[in-house]
Amino acid sequence: MRQERSADKPQMKKPAPAVKKPAPAAKKPASADKPANCPYRKKCGGCQYSEISYPEQLRMKERKVRRLLEGFGEVKPITGAEDPFHYRNKVTASFGFRNGKMISGVYEQKTHRVVNIDRCLIQDERADRIIHIMRDLFVSFKLKAYDEDSGFGLIRHVMVRTARATGQIMVIIVTANQVFPGSRNFVNALREKCPEITTIVQNINSQRTSMVLGNREKVLFGKGYIEDVLCGLRFRISAGSFYQVFPEQTEKLYAKAVELAGLRGKGLLLDAYCGVGTIGMIASRDAEQVIGVELNPDAVKDAEANARANGIRNISFYANDAGLFLQDLAASGIRPDVILMDPPRTGSTREFIESACRTKPERIVYVSCNPETLARDLKLFKGFNYRMREAWPFDNFPLTEHIETVCLLSGNS
Ligand code: SAH
Repeated sequence: MRQERSADKPQMKKPAPAVKKPAPAAKKPASADKPANCPYRKKCGGCQYSEISYPEQLRMKERKVRRLLEGFGEVKPITGAEDPFHYRNKVTASFGFRNGKMISGVYEQKTHRVVNIDRCLIQDERADRIIHIMRDLFVSFKLKAYDEDSGFGLIRHVMVRTARATGQIMVIIVTANQVFPGSRNFVNALREKCPEITTIVQNINSQRTSMVLGNREKVLFGKGYIEDVLCGLRFRISAGSFYQVFPEQTEKLYAKAVELAGLRGKGLLLDAYCGVGTIGMIASRDAEQVIGVELNPDAVKDAEANARANGIRNISFYANDAGLFLQDLAASGIRPDVILMDPPRTGSTREFIESACRTKPERIVYVSCNPETLARDLKLFKGFNYRMREAWPFDNFPLTEHIETVCLLSGNS
């Protein structure tokens, strides 16, 4: 199960040596035209571009997309963010000890030690505050941070997911063990200090793995999911379901994807790699019928609940590998008019691309969070006579090197 398709680093750790002075908290500059210079930049490695002004970041990203994609078709100008700070609606913190104190933050680049982070430039500030409060509560409740080398300790990670439009907040406590002593009192204390939290979930991850979340979970408070509103529709998001991290930019990206699909009230749309059903549901207003396919069964459950909650009847979801599903679809003679695909960072597969072209859709809309794998896949598409007509880059990950791109492809005829 994939939990994150961009910017997540390997999550392992080693004991940390003592450090005398804590790093100062990151300060947002008065204007995005100036570099932010995050003090954690070198150790954390999450924001490769924090020392570059925002307009320059946009120029660099557009140049990169042009370099990789211009050989395939037209590249349009990049769409930047109005406010490039504190946009991330999903924050994961790891915990450790330094000088006898519990610290929280991310794993140091390549060294597997926790970097204590007091204020991050891209994370939702409410999430930062909740994590700091939890760090203190873990100490008062004598709950120990999990050490991957020794296997001791209970608390592996805390993930906070916030919904911009509804204000709902989900806290996921990832424990190494099912037994969470004093969990009821802990939850009460946390809710008292942070009444804005709407649900708390314990996720159990007892495997030696770099994945943040395990397969089992227990709802400790609330509904076990949050809901957000995107492009006028309400989406339910569970702990392990993929959901874009920057909602304002996501709305622009999805609107472009739906526009490029060119449905105009008719046709069958296949939403491949559909997650909780976002793009397919937004496009369903312009299609006769929509089929969504997604590997993660929890996301499919969310997608089905989302369709019901929004009263959308012309959509159905399947939990399957997108490539296998499309092969079956092609074999059974079903032909989508438009295929919308939004694969993870690793891109799509030859099987998917070959079957997609074999069903001869009028248009293919490819949403990508990695222009390198996108370029690789466009080459494969070209081999099956589908060409990229236009590519629209979006900055959905300011201060980092990551870029989102949506492309339109059509057949050679
Ligand atoms: N379109 C959605 C999700 C995109 S993220 C959105 O915009 O929110 C990519 C999704 O692909 C994730 O939900 C992941 O679980 C899913 N995925 C990864 N590999 C897959 C595969 N082989 N087949 C189908 N879905 C897959």
